Amino acid sequence: MIEARELTKRYGGRTAVDGLTFTVRPGAVTGFLGPNGAGKSTTMRLALGLVRPTAGSVTVAGRRYSELAAPLREAGALLDARAVHGGHTVRRHLLGLARSHGIPARRVDEVLGAVGLESVADRRARGLSLGMAQRLGIAAALIGDPGVLILDEPVNGLDTEGIRWIRALLKSLAAEGRTVFLASHLMSELELTADRIIVIGRGRLLADTDMRTFIESNSPHATLLRTPAEESGRMRALLEARGAAVRPDAHGRWRVTGPTTTDIGELAREHRIAVHELTPCRSSLEEIYTALTGAAVEYRSTRSADANAEEELSCMPS
Ligand code: ADP
Repeated sequence: MIEARELTKRYGGRTAVDGLTFTVRPGAVTGFLGPNGAGKSTTMRLALGLVRPTAGSVTVAGRRYSELAAPLREAGALLDARAVHGGHTVRRHLLGLARSHGIPARRVDEVLGAVGLESVADRRARGLSLGMAQRLGIAAALIGDPGVLILDEPVNGLDTEGIRWIRALLKSLAAEGRTVFLASHLMSELELTADRIIVIGRGRLLADTDMRTFIESNSPHATLLRTPAEESGRMRALLEARGAAVRPDAHGRWRVTGPTTTDIGELAREHRIAVHELTPCRSSLEEIYTALTGAAVEYRSTRSADANAEEELSCMPS
């Protein structure tokens, strides 16, 4: 469990984290999302006691990180995969961590196996690819078998197989009852991996909910409808008479906003109009996120992020 209460961090006149209150619970992967400069890394550093809050508090496993008796056994973190002593071998790096935290040396081989680095255990850290360095960072985070994991962009540098691997690993760690807190700018990845989502912008909380609710409640009611060409004008008129907004899409279908998909199907049946396609739409995490954080990004382009947001929403099967 990670609990932030009115957590605030100011650097000079700049507020990096602004009164954040949230709880990251065990048994789930919680995605942490926000535009660059939103305050994600600072929040994670605050949780790990690397930075002191200006106001408010954050606890890990019920205590401030600095008060944990055996920090690596309580919380493992990956903040910057390149922050290891490049001259040390992979095994020596992990052994050093284990020894200094009273963790048995056999744990090193266990975590090397868990992250698939056995074959490079005797290589120096500076010779590792970014993907391998990420795996080493994850091994270090896991070495104390902690109940809480805090990972900042762990997917960077991993190839497709590595991304799939880490997704499965994080899900299984959460299924074991651990707290997994994961910052990533790869929204398609978060959408697949995270059960819950915390979104921040300019240091403030924008959303804290489960992923499915987040996507469903932020997707407009829209349906793609295809009827035989000779019926489509009549169908449109029927829908518009009921207050629906109906527009053609690029594939010869109507994009209908307003009524539910079920209501549209029933209306067609009532008027004996054949339906060749009826697809409920939901938005992708990326689209919702862009609309939500459009107002919260620090440097926006001249084009407003939420202008015509609905036009841009794609249709993914619900
Ligand atoms: P994110 O991880 O979401 O990209 P950060 O937490 O790195 O965001 O940064 C949040 C804000 O705090 C940014 O405006 C950044 O410039 C500022 N910031 C972060 N660390 C420092 C620091 N050590 N000194 C001054 N400003 C900082």
